[in-house]
Amino acid sequence: MNEVGYVYDPLYLEHRSLGHPESPERLEAIMERLISSGLLEALVSVPPKDATSAHLEMVHSWELVAQIRAKADEGGGWLDPDTYVGSTSFAVALRAVGGCLAALEGTMTGQIKKAFCLIRPPGHHATPNKAMGFCMFNNVAITAKVALSEWGVNKVAIVDFDVHHGNGTQETFYSDPQVLFFSTHQYPFYPGTGYWAEIGEGEGRGTTINVPLPRGCRTQEYLRVYEEVCLPALYRFQPDLILVSAGFDAHFADPLANMLMSTRGYYQLASLLVRAAEELCGGRIIFALEGGYDLTALSWSVQACLEAMLGLPFTPDPLGESPAVPGPDIEVVLGAIKRTHGL
Ligand SMILES: [Zn+2]
Repeated sequence: MNEVGYVYDPLYLEHRSLGHPESPERLEAIMERLISSGLLEALVSVPPKDATSAHLEMVHSWELVAQIRAKADEGGGWLDPDTYVGSTSFAVALRAVGGCLAALEGTMTGQIKKAFCLIRPPGHHATPNKAMGFCMFNNVAITAKVALSEWGVNKVAIVDFDVHHGNGTQETFYSDPQVLFFSTHQYPFYPGTGYWAEIGEGEGRGTTINVPLPRGCRTQEYLRVYEEVCLPALYRFQPDLILVSAGFDAHFADPLANMLMSTRGYYQLASLLVRAAEELCGGRIIFALEGGYDLTALSWSVQACLEAMLGLPFTPDPLGESPAVPGPDIEVVLGAIKRTHGL
């Protein structure tokens, strides 16, 4: 049985604003790469559905849902200076959430073990009450809620390696002990949240783990953080399902941020998360696309993640390794996080 699924739909290309970095070309580049490498044939196609308003309202206020629907109906506009809505964008966003829900269904019914959702718009900045940072609805947060409420899942771990902090996901689950939210991100940086002292509250105290990183972190620093903080946290939490907010804007070629991850680094990071899923939760892991704005880095990095999910060796990419420069000191911040979380 082929165990790795992917979600894609041409409707995902119908959300666009001329010159915006979060463009349909991102998904086109990924699909072209997966077709030309032959990797797509090794994957199971999982057709997306459309999420319902009830799904959206598991995370978002009905006011936000109504605002975005109305904006699309009136022909489009801007939700914040970064976040556009076109006339088809509401429909696209419903199918992006629904794509993740289809992957969840496939994973929970055993049709597939793992999935990569090639969706847009991204979701991790969308808070319960606000669309922002290119995001309308929080694809991953809604998927976690549906896993808990409809699929009998007890604990979900969300790992967010996008270079920006997943503020919307954090806010959704800040007091929820059933969801572990782990995020690495450039800091200080957009959207401003994600300091290491943000650890959750109430019953959820300790199930939010933030790793704010200085600019210039290379593959070495990233792998160190994931080995020393993320893996121990996952093994302690013992999730039944792992969701990944997979953004590739920490790549050294990315134009929007200042990190120095390599494509091979994403392969290694994905391998480590896949291994954790195998050992902790029957291999159940779903990656959902977030950011990543250099088309070459993005398409090759998604391919690298899929290679890791399929247990294949890494195919070297044209951009090569992280630049050979010294990395920043992450000792102090790692120490603070380990002490605070008892890791
Ligand atoms: Zn990002």
